[in-house]
Amino acid sequence: MEVTRHCCRYASVGDKGEILLGRNVVADAFYKRIIRVVTHAHHDHTRGLPSSVKWSIYIVATPVTFEFLKLLGYRIPEEKKLPLGYRAPVTIENETITLFPARHIAGSAQVVVESPSYRVGYTGDFKLPGTPPLEDLDILVIDATYGSPKYQRRWSDWEALSALISLIDEKIQQGPVWIYAFNGKIQEIMIELRKRGVDYPFLAEPIAIEMAKISSREYRVELGDIRPYLGGEVDESAVVFIHTSKSNGKMRMRGTHVKLTGWETRSIVRMVGDNVFRVSFSDHATFREIIEYVREAMPRQVIVDGYRGRDAWFTAKYIEKMLGIPAVYMPVKRK
Ligand SMILES: [Zn+2]
Repeated sequence: MEVTRHCCRYASVGDKGEILLGRNVVADAFYKRIIRVVTHAHHDHTRGLPSSVKWSIYIVATPVTFEFLKLLGYRIPEEKKLPLGYRAPVTIENETITLFPARHIAGSAQVVVESPSYRVGYTGDFKLPGTPPLEDLDILVIDATYGSPKYQRRWSDWEALSALISLIDEKIQQGPVWIYAFNGKIQEIMIELRKRGVDYPFLAEPIAIEMAKISSREYRVELGDIRPYLGGEVDESAVVFIHTSKSNGKMRMRGTHVKLTGWETRSIVRMVGDNVFRVSFSDHATFREIIEYVREAMPRQVIVDGYRGRDAWFTAKYIEKMLGIPAVYMPVKRK
C-alpha cells in the first residue's frame, strides 16, 4: 500500500493501542508524550492512564469524561486536568488541539491536532448519525470495531431499540427484565428508553446509577424512578441493568434476561435459552457507517485502528480500492 510522507510521522497507532497525533499528543493509551487525550471513559481507551498522569503534563478530555474517570477511580491532579468542551481549541507548543462530538457514550470526543504544516485527527469510538466527520485532514485515524461486511447489522439502532422496548413491554408483565451490557451502553439505553416513554422502574448497580446521572444531565433527559440494585431476586416489574461481566450469577434469577451485543448479526432479537434473549445493539459504527464516514470526511490518508477493531486490514483495503484514498491499518501484527 502506498504510504504518504506524513504517515506515520504525524499519526500512527502503536502496539499498545496508543494513537500518536502530531508531535506532542497521544490518545487512548500510555506513551511518553506531554499531552494525553482520553476520548471517552471506556476501559480500552483509558489504558495506562495512571502512567500518563505521572508522565504527561496535561490530560485532555471533555468535562463529562473527567467525571466518569473520577467515578471509575482514576486520580488525576487538578493541575494536570485540561477539560475541553467541543470545538473549543487549545494551543500548546505550536499545536492546536480541538475536540469534536462523537455519538458513542456521554462525553465521547473525536480529536484533531494541527499545526501550520499538518492536520491530523482520530475519531475515537463513534457511530452514525450524530458524529460530524472531521474534515480537511492529512491523516484520519479511524476506529473500525466492525471492520468488514461480515459483521454488518441489517437494521438500524432505532429498530433495535424498538425491538428491545417491545420485548420489555411483553415480558415485564411476568416479572423483572434483566439487561446485560457494558457501562456506557447501559446509560445510553436508560436514556433512550426514557426518551421513548418507557417508565418502568430502573434498578442498577450504584456506580451505574452515578454514571447515569451524569449522562442524564448531559443529554437533558430525566431518569425518573431509578434505584440501586444490591443483589438477590427482584420482586417487581422493573428493568434491572447489570454489567456484562457479572451476568453469570444473575441468569438464574427469576425474570427475563436480555444480553445486548453488536456481534449478533442474524436477527434483531434472538431467543438463546429459556427466557434468555440476545438483542443486537451496538454503540459502534457498522462497517457501512465507517465507509460512509470516510467518504464524507475525504482525508488525504487513512489509518485504520487495528488494535481495537476486527478485520482492520479489510477496512483499509476497501477504503483504498473503493474510495481511492491511501489507507493502512496499524499496528500491523494484529491482522
Ligand atoms: Zn467505547
